[in-house]
Parts: sequence; structure tokens; C-alpha cells
Amino acid sequence: MDFALSDTERAIRDTARDFIAREVMPLEQELLRRERAHQPGLEPDELRELQLKARAFGFWGLATPEEYGGMDLPAVTQSLVWTELGRSFVPFRFGGEADNILFRANDAQKREFLVPTVEGERRSCFAITEPGAGSDAANIRLSARLDGGDWVLNGEKTFITGGNEADFAIVIAVTDRERGARNGGATAFLVDRAMGWRSELIQTMGEGGPAALVFDDVRVPARNVLGEPGQGFALAMEWIGKGRYTIPSHAVGIAERALRMAIDHANTRRTFGRPIGDNQAIQWMIADSETELEAARWLILRAAWTVDQGVDPRHASSMAKLYGAGMVNRVVDRVLQIHGGMGYTRELPVERWYRQVRLYRIFEGTDEMQRLIIARDLLRGYTRLGGHLA
Ligand SMILES: Cc1cc2nc3c(=O)[nH]c(=O)nc-3n(C[C@H](O)[C@H](O)[C@H](O)COP(=O)(O)OP(=O)(O)OC[C@H]3O[C@@H](n4cnc5c(N)ncnc54)[C@H](O)[C@@H]3O)c2cc1C
Repeated sequence: MDFALSDTERAIRDTARDFIAREVMPLEQELLRRERAHQPGLEPDELRELQLKARAFGFWGLATPEEYGGMDLPAVTQSLVWTELGRSFVPFRFGGEADNILFRANDAQKREFLVPTVEGERRSCFAITEPGAGSDAANIRLSARLDGGDWVLNGEKTFITGGNEADFAIVIAVTDRERGARNGGATAFLVDRAMGWRSELIQTMGEGGPAALVFDDVRVPARNVLGEPGQGFALAMEWIGKGRYTIPSHAVGIAERALRMAIDHANTRRTFGRPIGDNQAIQWMIADSETELEAARWLILRAAWTVDQGVDPRHASSMAKLYGAGMVNRVVDRVLQIHGGMGYTRELPVERWYRQVRLYRIFEGTDEMQRLIIARDLLRGYTRLGGHLA
């Protein structure tokens, strides 16, 4: 059994690491200062400038096919890069990305929506959640009815990441209530903001915030259906599937950086005449964190590897998302404890991580939904105990 990275994986991972250390981490203190002053941590122009710098040496579109100028990296390599991104709390991500389901668009839609999104000229958001339908996503109510050649959308979406900044939304709407969303009754639409939807920021525990989107008789031409009518729910599940290994990969980077800080603090902070790291209470927090981090790392890389094998990755990805999200919450909590009062201040990034990672247990499938998937697979005999080695 070989747990080593290939030369290519290592080279890409190290290049990403160098870029983040050289270009992104130097902004960290300024980011904390701005956020303490209730200003945006990173302006869109600053993000764009960093992304173009990264593009200059080839880092553009981790998941984007080469024909659109991307790197088209295997999932394992993408996972490694997401971990590097997690090491800095500056909300930087590489440019050249687009929602995975936008690649399902037809040629005209690709020109209008996909290509400008990859190029960073247009911003998208993905909207399925509604006030009455989160985990139970098949219960969506936002409706689309045909009127002449157009679809008319009515209803509300909520908690939409980037919804206040987006130029267009990928909206999952009910087109056939009788059939139900899961059975071909939902359709995905590409809806320009100029078509008339409104958005409102929702204040949350973390920095930035998602938005509520309101659709009041919004007319959408039939050519803006993404995929086929009736395919909306399947496309939504495809969209959500991607985050199930990228989110915990990011979590590993956060947890590693935070644990590094805790180890350094434990070696230098002295109480009762000796470093706090001499105490078993502190050592156990460090040991548990390192062990859980290592377990998460392999669960996540295995999930990404499953994606690369072209087999159904859902079971492995649910375990990776469930464990990775829980792990980073436990690690950051211990790191905050090891830092004592300083951990609770806004001078350090620890309390920021504490607020940020709480979300990881909620969005793109809550802990409970991941458990439901894992248990259901086993109870129905869809997945064998023992994973791919069974
Ligand atoms: C910051 C943020 C960003 C988001 N971004 C997006 C986005 O870009 N696009 C988008 O469409 N959505 C987005 N979401 C929505 C997110 O995916 C949902 O919040 C999430 O799926 C949970 O749905 P809910 O909030 O309605 O909770 P609910 O579904 O009401 O669940 C409430 C609680 O009950 C539990 N529960 C529900 N059903 C069961 C069950 N059968 N068994 C056991 N427990 C159960 C849940 O796990 C949870 O703990 C975002 C949310 C947040 C907070």
C-alpha cells in the first residue's frame, strides 16, 4: 500500500502552498483589522488581482476543463489544493471556476453564462434552499409556469451564498407539482438579475453573509432552462456533491494551521513557572486534534480518490463531510481553549475560525443528513462494510 503523493501532486500542492504563503498570508493582519472595523475583509478587486497573479503561473480553474482554460485537476489534487487554501483565513480562492452544473449548459448558454463566469466577468449563485425546504430539498415551492414562450417564476429562496453579489442565479423551481421535485417535477433555470429578482443580505455568525432571493412574476425565456425540463433536482444533487469533499478538504487546512498555532503557544506561554505544554491537559488536546486531523485527511482523500475512480462517491463523500466538519469544530474549539483569553479576542484568527467552521456542519448537507445517507446506504445493502477494500 502506497500512501505517498505522486511527483505531480506534490509539485502542484507545493506551488499552491508557496503562492498562499507569499501572496495571501501577508494580508492576514490587515484583514483582521478591517473586520474589527466592520469593513469587508477582502474587496472584490483585491481578490481579482490575486487570482490574476495566480493565473500568471497557471493556477486557474482547478476543476475547469482545459478547453475553457482551466487546470482540470483530478479530485485528489483539488482536495490537496483546497487544504492549502484553508491554511489562510483570507477568503481567497483560485479564479477560473464555475458551478460544476454550468458545464451542462448548451452552447449558447455557455457563451452567455459559463465563459464569463470562468473569466470572472460574471458572478453566479446557486439557489435551491427555501424558507420551507432545506434538508428536505424536494419540498421546494418556488414555482415556474409556462406562459407563451416564457417561464414565470414566483417564490422565495433563502441562505444563498453570493446571492447579494451575483449577476445571475441558477434557480431550481417546481415545474410539475404533481410529479414532485424528485420525480422530474423540478427544473433548473439561469436567471439574470436584470430579469427582476431581488436579494437581501442575511446577517450570520460568520463574516459576509448569504442572501434571500425574491421572485415576483420573474419572466425567464425558455432558452434559459439549464439541462432538460424536469432535470432540476438531479442537477441540484450534482452541484451539492462537489462540496462534499472540497469543504472538508478546506477544513483540514484550517485545522492544521490552527493546531500549529496552538502548539507554538503551548511551547511559549508559561504559567506556574513552566510552558503550558508541559501539562497533560494541554497535551491531550493537542494529541486528540492531531489524531482526528489525520483520520479526516485520509477519509477525505479516499472520498476524492473515489471521485477519480468514476464510481459513486456519495457514501465516501458523506463520511468525509460529516467527519471533516466535526473535526475542524473540535480542533478549533481546543485551539481556542489553549490560547485562553487571547483565543477569544479579535486580535487572533481563532474566534473567527470558530464562527466560520460552525457553518461546515450545516451547509451542503447537515451532519444529520450525512448520517442519514451513510446509514441508509448500509441498511439497504447499497454499500458494503469495509469500503473499497472489502
Ligand atoms: C451561510 C449559509 C450558506 C448557504 N448557502 C447556500 C447556497 O448557496 N445555496 C442553497 O441552495 N442553500 C444554501 N444554504 C442552505 C443550507 O444548505 C441549509 O441551511 C441546510 O441544508 C439545512 O437546511 P435548513 O436550514 O432548512 O435546516 P432544516 O432542514 O430545517 O433542519 C433543521 C435541523 O433538523 C435536522 N433535520 C432535518 N431533517 C432531519 C431528519 N430527517 N432527521 C434528522 N434530523 C433532521 C437538520 O439536520 C438540522 O439540524 C446555506 C446555508 C447557510 C447557513
